[in-house]
Amino acid sequence: MKGYRFAILIMLVLGFSMLSQTSPFQMNDFSENEIIATPLQDADLILSENFEEMNLSSLDLSLYLNETDATVPGNLTIDFYNSDPVVFSSIPFHLYLSGMLAGDRLGYIEILNVSALTPSPVPLTFDVYSVDQLMWIHLIDDLQPNTSIILEIVFESVLPTDSSDRAGVSGTDIDSSKMYEFASAYPIPCVYDEYDGWNTDPYLDTGDPFYLDMAYYDFNLTLPNAMKVAATGELMGVDVGTTSTIYRYTPSAPVREITFCASRYYIIESQIYHGVNVSSYYLPESVSLWSSNGLAWGIRALSLFNNTFGPYPFTTLNIVEDSGFYYGMEYPCQVYLSNIINDRYQNEEITADVLDSVIAHEVAHQWWYHLVGNDEVDVGFLDEGLAVWSVYYYSEFYNLGWTGKEFDFISVRMIYPAKINQSIYDESSTYYFTAYDKTPVVLEKLRQIIGTADYLDSLRLFFTRFSFRLAFLPDLQTAFEDQLNRDLDWFFVPMFDNAYLPEYSFQSVFYNSSSNSLVLVIEDLNEGFHIRRYTQNFTVEVETTDETIEFTDVQLYGTTEVILSLPESSTGTPTTVILLYDDYSLVQLDDPLVHFISTSNITNDTPINSTTPSTPEPPWDPGLTIYILAGAGIGVIALAIVALVQKKNRS
Ligand SMILES: [Zn+2]
Repeated sequence: MKGYRFAILIMLVLGFSMLSQTSPFQMNDFSENEIIATPLQDADLILSENFEEMNLSSLDLSLYLNETDATVPGNLTIDFYNSDPVVFSSIPFHLYLSGMLAGDRLGYIEILNVSALTPSPVPLTFDVYSVDQLMWIHLIDDLQPNTSIILEIVFESVLPTDSSDRAGVSGTDIDSSKMYEFASAYPIPCVYDEYDGWNTDPYLDTGDPFYLDMAYYDFNLTLPNAMKVAATGELMGVDVGTTSTIYRYTPSAPVREITFCASRYYIIESQIYHGVNVSSYYLPESVSLWSSNGLAWGIRALSLFNNTFGPYPFTTLNIVEDSGFYYGMEYPCQVYLSNIINDRYQNEEITADVLDSVIAHEVAHQWWYHLVGNDEVDVGFLDEGLAVWSVYYYSEFYNLGWTGKEFDFISVRMIYPAKINQSIYDESSTYYFTAYDKTPVVLEKLRQIIGTADYLDSLRLFFTRFSFRLAFLPDLQTAFEDQLNRDLDWFFVPMFDNAYLPEYSFQSVFYNSSSNSLVLVIEDLNEGFHIRRYTQNFTVEVETTDETIEFTDVQLYGTTEVILSLPESSTGTPTTVILLYDDYSLVQLDDPLVHFISTSNITNDTPINSTTPSTPEPPWDPGLTIYILAGAGIGVIALAIVALVQKKNRS
């Protein structure tokens, strides 16, 4: 999802970046030939083995929209497969609907009957915990590992009214905006994993609190005639009756859940794009913003991410306007964009690029969360961080000039400390910052260190390994390590597990005129807060009475002693030492415009041994001692890392 706070950031960013921005997007702004290197439907070759060897559950849903009272009676038949090495006597199902926001009527799911099909129905007992939005179904016989049971659940979903949440009825017929949105609104089986056992988390206020297994789905949907509907998966058949129509859908590969949104007023545009039926659905009031744009922006996001991360395996993708309090929300094969975007666009509070960026964000979630799944309660930063980073890349690839990335780097350097790698329960106050700002910034930092080619190859490897499966942070790290063939603890541990960024200060600077060298101790004032010290490279400039000498790739590992050998040609006396930060330095800053620290407090002629390093004395806790030898001329350097004094502080 992309929430309010993020939306405001985007607005601020786009607001000023758009001052110098260009015209709305045109379809011919990009070349298809340039982008489509991976045929969309070649997904089979890469991905099918990820789920064909798995025994997934199968869900068969029948849903009926009662327009008058905004209810959806339903019948769910689930062939539940126990893929875990434990015996289940009860199985929990999420009933998220009663946790959602509402106007004058709360939503809920009433469970009418539960039975086991053996094959004739045998009634089962069940308990509903409405506060926890949970139902436990009690089995007659234990379900052994690698066996399955077929359950039938008869229910009625009562949609919240005047809703601005993920499910509900909203809008009016008077202004042609009435719609019925059905998302996370039927009983959905919980995920069992080795870390938490059953993940029974309720519908939380913070983030997207979902964590669902892939499953095969089939569903049919009965709607009043003349209702237009966007739904997950390929439309396999339509039966038109005298007053109602039955639509039958089958997603072309497993999905984590299904959704639909129906309105009498939707305007629909569609295009078959390399075998994928891409459609946009929007309300009449939004025509000036959405016409052509919604479809075109969805296609170009699909195109880029398909080619960059790995093949999109489905045959449909719907870009759908809804009425959410959020800007956007992702579901398999279907993403929602709130009509708040159009309202603000019409009020000239935002530009059309906001819709473009939110579409790109939600489409990126097809790869990050839907195909590569993760526990959004415990590691929600993982898919959100990747989705935000994907929009950085989208802007860069299509040369859109958005400044979200730059703004996020400023935020991360300026805003409060917050650790990324923790669950929503532990960091609810900082979740949006860590997931939407800090994680993508850390990912971009990694890309700057290892280079774009290896970075993208690593993401492709991660996607290939975990599409249709569930991934955790170590899985992402391992994909990068395997791609690069080297350990990355030095990057991942401090970046994801430290709350603070380093804040550097010159502790001492000694100049030895006989060896013409400088000994700097650069202290990380935040070191006491870290689980592990940061390793980053910087440029140091030495101003002398004659010239400025630049030393690049000066590596700091926490508080670090650095020895800089000035060029033999240098005859001046050092007057100032400057530690420069570039656009991707991750350091704490007090002023976003000041990208360096400096000192002129240089002590002269302190004796040092010119061939072997002196062991630094307390009080500082030395990190690396590094010797930097400046070559002839400014900016030419040779670097020798001599001694790793400090035992590594691993978490
Ligand atoms: Zn998101």
